[in-house]
Amino acid sequence: MMKLREVLLPILIGIATIGSLGMFLWEWPTSPLHKGIAWHQLRTGSFASVENGQHALTLLYGEAPNQTALQKKSLGLTITETIVETKEVALPFTVETSTDPTFPAEWEYTFPAGHDGFAEVEVREVQVNGKITAYYDHSTRILTAPLHEKRFIGEKVHAELTKQLTDNWNSLKTALSKKQQNTAESFLLATDFGTLASIFKISDLAYRLEHTASVSLALGEESEFLIQIGTVTLQQKNCTTKATIPLYYLKDQQQYRLGNVLTALQSLCAKPKPTSGVLSCKNCWLAPVSKNFALPSSYIPYVVATGVTGGGYVTPDTRTALQKLFADAKANGISVMRVSSSYRSYTTQQSLFNSYVNNERKKGLTYEQAVVKANTYSAKPGHSEHQLGTTVDIMGCNYPCNFYDSKNTPVYTYLHNNAHKFGLIISYPNGSEPYTGYTYEPWHIRYIGVTRAQELYNRGYLTKTGYYLQQYLSEKGEY
Ligand SMILES: [Zn+2]
Repeated sequence: MMKLREVLLPILIGIATIGSLGMFLWEWPTSPLHKGIAWHQLRTGSFASVENGQHALTLLYGEAPNQTALQKKSLGLTITETIVETKEVALPFTVETSTDPTFPAEWEYTFPAGHDGFAEVEVREVQVNGKITAYYDHSTRILTAPLHEKRFIGEKVHAELTKQLTDNWNSLKTALSKKQQNTAESFLLATDFGTLASIFKISDLAYRLEHTASVSLALGEESEFLIQIGTVTLQQKNCTTKATIPLYYLKDQQQYRLGNVLTALQSLCAKPKPTSGVLSCKNCWLAPVSKNFALPSSYIPYVVATGVTGGGYVTPDTRTALQKLFADAKANGISVMRVSSSYRSYTTQQSLFNSYVNNERKKGLTYEQAVVKANTYSAKPGHSEHQLGTTVDIMGCNYPCNFYDSKNTPVYTYLHNNAHKFGLIISYPNGSEPYTGYTYEPWHIRYIGVTRAQELYNRGYLTKTGYYLQQYLSEKGEY
């Protein structure tokens, strides 16, 4: 049997509890907890609510970590806090719309492309004085950052923008032609910076840049940070190829950039090469000086003493090659070898050629006939490779001796087989007269660098007919 006391005690406790709850509800507007909530609301922007007839303190997501401790300290309440659950809460991105005064009117773009994120949230239970239970969400870490997506509506008038982009292209042209790297980069996509060195090396760059560009606007591909907004089209006269340069808008920097400029310039037609005349090269050491092409009378290379037997003057690179050649020849049993002619200025060549013409006239030729005859073995002024400072005549006997002296033969055999190893080429080989216009000159060698000389030698310029130095240099176009 249950004793009365055992029955009454829970009833009394129940009455007391209901009474306490009733008192609490009665006292709620003035209770310390209510004040605490009001205080807390001021401090953090959170709020309290009463739900389902129970006193529930709801603290919104985003609380300061020490807020319960602050309440405890200022109100003297006994507050305990327990993590009762952890969960992932989706944080979807939001979209705002703004205007962009630099982007074409009526067009829009988004930046950056947003994606959903998640936060790891702890649900914490709070007990106040052991009675009042409240829950709040406490975000401990963001699992994936939600990106804030903005939609931009353009404002710039198309005509204005077209003018600005044309100006951009003209500024880039100037920077490219003057090889101003930093300025050029300010108009290019960062991914194209590495192409500048190649652009600067295009031999007829000025020619390719001179043609007028037209700008057209049309929305193209869009990525997170870029949007293609049109093209710059380059059209040359007398060339059917059209080069197009895509125009991009950098969303983050709100600036315009040009892409693939190198590819566009390379696709244009090359400057047509003249087939004869005075060359316009500044550094002419690889120019195809010949009967068709003349060096300018003003072309004077920097020359130094050869430092080998016979003396004379050549460019520093040529001197280095000659010294190696002479040392190698000596090591291969050539005891006598000397330079008989080296750098000759335009005016020296003029005097030399005139003296040859006079010699021929003494043999009874007319002036015209004498010029033609002299030109088979001597160049007219401007047409001599000796003006380059890279060319010498070599002899294998002590002065005086004839070019055709039998003592020379071992030297010319040696040059035939070895000169290319040092970057030196026989300009007028045996059998080349129909192409070069000069008789065989085994002594006349010109420096063009080891790689080119080796390439020409491998192509059989000494043994096959129809492929000689002047043709090779014309094709290379390095002048
Ligand atoms: Zn010569």
